Amino acid sequence: ADLSEPSGPRTVRAPRGSGLTARGWQQEAALRMLRNNLDPEVAEHPEKLVVYGGTGKAARDWRSFDAMVRTLTTLGPDETMLVQSGRPVGVLTTHEWAPRVLIANSNLVGDWANWEEFRRLEALGLTMYGQMTAGSWIYIGTQGILQGTYETFAAVAAKRFGGSLAGTITLTAGLGGMGGAQPLAVTMNGGVVICVDCDPRAIERRIGHRYLDVRAESLDHALRLATEARDARRPLSIGVLGNAADAVPRLLAMGAPVDIVTDQTSAHDPLAYLPLGVDFADMASYAAEKPADFTARARESMARHVEAMVGFQDAGAEVFDYGNSIRGEAQLAGYDRAFAFPGFVPAYIRPLFCEGRGPFRWAALSGDPADIAATDRAVLDLFPENESLARWIRMAGERVHFQGLPARICWLGYGERDRAGERFNDMVASGEISAPLAIGRDHLDCGSVASPYRETEAMLDGSDAIADWPLLNAMVNVASGASWVSIHHGGGVGMGRSIHAGQVTVADGTPLAGEKIRRVLTNDPGTGVIRHVDAGYERAEEVAAERGVRVPMREG
Ligand code: NAD
Repeated sequence: ADLSEPSGPRTVRAPRGSGLTARGWQQEAALRMLRNNLDPEVAEHPEKLVVYGGTGKAARDWRSFDAMVRTLTTLGPDETMLVQSGRPVGVLTTHEWAPRVLIANSNLVGDWANWEEFRRLEALGLTMYGQMTAGSWIYIGTQGILQGTYETFAAVAAKRFGGSLAGTITLTAGLGGMGGAQPLAVTMNGGVVICVDCDPRAIERRIGHRYLDVRAESLDHALRLATEARDARRPLSIGVLGNAADAVPRLLAMGAPVDIVTDQTSAHDPLAYLPLGVDFADMASYAAEKPADFTARARESMARHVEAMVGFQDAGAEVFDYGNSIRGEAQLAGYDRAFAFPGFVPAYIRPLFCEGRGPFRWAALSGDPADIAATDRAVLDLFPENESLARWIRMAGERVHFQGLPARICWLGYGERDRAGERFNDMVASGEISAPLAIGRDHLDCGSVASPYRETEAMLDGSDAIADWPLLNAMVNVASGASWVSIHHGGGVGMGRSIHAGQVTVADGTPLAGEKIRRVLTNDPGTGVIRHVDAGYERAEEVAAERGVRVPMREG
């Protein structure tokens, strides 16, 4: 329908149903997922082609979008479209096992890999910021953030509390765009959580969206509600208005019985963290008028905040940094024990990566929520022994509101993803699912990313910045039969700081798709196991030995 329209902003949505608009389901899936990323329910700023994560885009400009749609509609089953930073630049004859689309987004040569140069080239119309799943057409909305946060707290529960947060109290701050997932993620794990935020609207919004249960009138009130719920082993999330740099030290001084402490205030940007002694109402004008003064006071306050977090750690609590750089900012303010507690990836996520686990996801190209419900039942049936997975799938089914094409995310590991994918393909073949599924994942995965400030922080062998791994991962997915494969730079943490790869494979119910799925969904997480064996992680070695992942340097 777009072909007759001018090359400018318009409302875009994926076609629904089981009828084809392209020449095959592999091409149709790419077409629907590209359009789905720009669905106003999914994208943050669809008129600018921006999907999420600051300026992460699905296409470079509207002309490029139109050309991609046109090309995908006519692309043959033995052809491959090349995409260079959101613009289709070529169509090549390949073969039926080859990807239908190959994507490279935002890549720059090392010495040029910074925001300044990127913005210059972007202004010339030469590149586009692809983030992780924006430019590779497998973003599924806030479900991804909720599930990642849920998985982190599930890992905390597994590490310290026997697999559930029931009977524990978590203390955190920040109820913003990402941080707002914390209260629901903790209660989904059975726990009680106190969330401090200085913005009353953030608290109200989370209550309105049913991510947060109640608002307490004071810290004392919050603590009373928390201990009652904890003693009854009843999940409860409590919002309380305050400055975390004041509330966290006060709770420590009160001897609050807190088991877990973290933080998701926007500490990565000192102009977005409220300093002690400043009214929330004056925050924006103060930051704008006296940025240097504000920054110094914000960092000083973060030092008090982090000092109290370390105090809780000394008292026996499980404490971690949730990827917001609060440790670094506190250190800049001169607090010398800022790095006494770890970041969340080395602490909880890396052990999952060693098993090839990561944010596996799929979307129902039919647009029918019943298809996702059917896959939910299949996952529960396939992995009955995995309690935290079962809890997630059940609660997501009840509480997650779909954005755009219905989709599901869950963390599955090596030896699991392929089983799920093959079952899904069989369900498409039998008609139990009404149209094909696009099966992919985030780029934040076990073998697909080099990002020394996040996914590969503090690798055992010091290989944090080695970026051969995501490139190998992408080539493996091309060689294994993925439907589209992407290599990006700068997602998550910004230009110069990460290189990462993605894949999507379509379950269209054919035997050929089944063969491709078996290989891709085995080999893709397999590169994660291999990467962590190579770095010397024992758990990865066990997984490789138990599940038959071959690593030449460990043989003979
Ligand atoms: P946001 O800006 O939407 O929300 C931040 C919240 O913190 C706001 O509600 C603000 O009112 C509150 N706040 C600021 N200063 C405060 C103070 N002194 N006391 C109490 N509350 C205060 O940000 P977001 O999108 O929610 O992200 C939060 C942080 O988490 C960012 O630094 C982000 O980079 C980081 N992060 C999260 C993940 C993840 O997996 N969830 C990963 C990487 C980074």
